[in-house]
Amino acid sequence: MEYRNLGRSGLRVSALSFGSWITFGNQIQQDTARDLMVTAYEAGVNFFDNSEAYAEGRSEEQMGQLLKELAWPRDSYILSSKAFFGVKGLKDSLPTQKGNNRKHLTEACHQALRRLQTDYLDLYYCHRPDKHTPIEETVWTMHNLIQQGKVLYWGTSEWSAQEIMEAHLVARQHHLIGPVMEQPQYNMLFREKVENEFRRLYHTVGLGTTVWSPLASGVLTGKYNQGVPENARLGRSEMQWLAKNNLREDFFERVRGLQKIADERGLSLPVMAIAWTLKNPHVSTTILGASSVAQLKENLTALEALPKLDEATLRAIEKVLDNKPVPPPF
Ligand code: NDP
Repeated sequence: MEYRNLGRSGLRVSALSFGSWITFGNQIQQDTARDLMVTAYEAGVNFFDNSEAYAEGRSEEQMGQLLKELAWPRDSYILSSKAFFGVKGLKDSLPTQKGNNRKHLTEACHQALRRLQTDYLDLYYCHRPDKHTPIEETVWTMHNLIQQGKVLYWGTSEWSAQEIMEAHLVARQHHLIGPVMEQPQYNMLFREKVENEFRRLYHTVGLGTTVWSPLASGVLTGKYNQGVPENARLGRSEMQWLAKNNLREDFFERVRGLQKIADERGLSLPVMAIAWTLKNPHVSTTILGASSVAQLKENLTALEALPKLDEATLRAIEKVLDNKPVPPPF
């Protein structure tokens, strides 16, 4: 395993990490969840990602139960949670049960600690920006949770560069602890935020990134090119909103081109796609998702594939993708 600093912080996070969205507390059984955690940990993964919103809190409960059973030393791994959506989701949560206001962030933190059966969260994210809460309130709340020892580092997910910068300005003005990391989507098909929008923040505030959906929910495995396979994520009834975004003919076209490049290098497509995210030095960690141990074992070999992604291969990939974000002219 390779370990990278989480942005400008001193925290060393494994380049590949593991997340529980859709799978834990939902798609998979306890035995599989345990085997996935053990497989990841034994491969050197030290960051396990979670959220209040995953399976209405059941994902945190399942992970918490497993961490208790496995009894790994608490100082050997990094655990996260995120708040904003509320346990029941934005639509069904009460007004006091969602958002980045002091009440919800504080109560969601306490609830996550109980579900995960831990004394503190290493990373705590505002899962989305909140247009209804002043940024000062959010920054003060996160700072206070850190002061209380309930959280070690805080960050954002799917915030704009401007929102992240505003949080830093407030933190600087009041001598508070600002956000360390952002959790954006990043993969061969969705590149804008990581490669373009955030480009100044890596240097100005030392932004770290814990990127999600490296396989675009499975599209970058090639398994959707011949239709939706049975039991695959984008066939699930509750995932049809995402299927609409991700099952696109122009994506399938690119996947066909990428498959050829992967075949020529003796790589599987998911492994090449995950390794490609790690070639970006601004990625602190790529969060893997898997519904089976076989998938996870395959995906964990991405680090070994890095030497095969030489300049010529990266150029060939770029030609097929033809979607490199263009920064504004200076
Ligand atoms: P991916 O894009 O890698 O999708 C993972 C899914 O793809 C698996 O659950 C599996 O689904 C399928 N898959 C994975 N590997 C293979 C393989 N080798 N062969 C075939 N199919 C495969 O990542 P996720 O979307 O799961 O995101 C990873 C993590 O990022 C999440 O668990 C979560 O922690 C975080 N995240 C954060 C978000 C945020 O807003 N902050 C949003 C989304 C994710 P199946 O078998 O069911 O088809």
